[in-house]
Amino acid sequence: MSVLGWVAAWIVAVQLAGLGNTVGYHRLLTHRAFVAHPMVRRILTLFGATHSGSPMMWVGLHRLHHARSDTEEDPHTPTRGFWYGHAGWLIGTRHPLPAILFALTGFGQQALILWHDLQRLVGRREADWVALCPDLREERLMRLLDVPLVMPALFAAQAVGAWWVGGAWGLLWLWSVHLFLTNASWSVNSICHWPAFGVQRWETGDRSRDVAWLSVFTNGESYHNGHHRYPRSARHALHGGIDLSWQVIQLLCRLRLARDPWLPRAWRSPRP
Ligand SMILES: [Zn+2]
Ligand SMILES: [Zn+2]
Repeated sequence: MSVLGWVAAWIVAVQLAGLGNTVGYHRLLTHRAFVAHPMVRRILTLFGATHSGSPMMWVGLHRLHHARSDTEEDPHTPTRGFWYGHAGWLIGTRHPLPAILFALTGFGQQALILWHDLQRLVGRREADWVALCPDLREERLMRLLDVPLVMPALFAAQAVGAWWVGGAWGLLWLWSVHLFLTNASWSVNSICHWPAFGVQRWETGDRSRDVAWLSVFTNGESYHNGHHRYPRSARHALHGGIDLSWQVIQLLCRLRLARDPWLPRAWRSPRP
């Protein structure tokens, strides 16, 4: 594989898988910010599943984050430390060093998903997140992706494919894709809930921030204070700025592949 091909494939993979998380898992499945054509819904879900774990687990955790933001019950509040909010919460540590090392593993999240699935298989762990997404458990695809070892199988398929296409360089490519995507996603939990960064435009009762520079790496998700103020809004950059996820939702609506994007009243265009 040429260097140019390697980089081009990296950008395409990061964008598609990243949008699967931000447009799919987050704005569509968690917050129902718009209605997507069933096929688009499935495709976005599968793109998200390449790196974000089971959709019901992700949605359940994220709904808990919104319901209990920056309290003891928030799964990843950085009030327990910046690196806890970033990656330490996944492995249950407040110490920066193991949290940073875990964040640098790239495939660490996939190893954790495998570990949790094995625990579920031997009855040591419950899929308690399912109770938080009664809407999703009606869908066959969501239930299938929540079956233990389905997510690890999807990751194994990626690894085999990457090895088959590019050998060691292919695996390095896959590692760097996961490294970027996991840290971009976690940075919303850490940086966008940390007082040193960005601005808080709305008094939301939590520590959420709008961090403009991070929006390039997070498809617009870093306008996070506005998101906590209006969780259902399909647009996160409410005061302007780069919000690729919103651009994609608008494009899907223009192509009639999606409809009814929800916006706060002040941001709705007047009816003609
Ligand atoms: Zn938040
Ligand atoms: Zn949210």
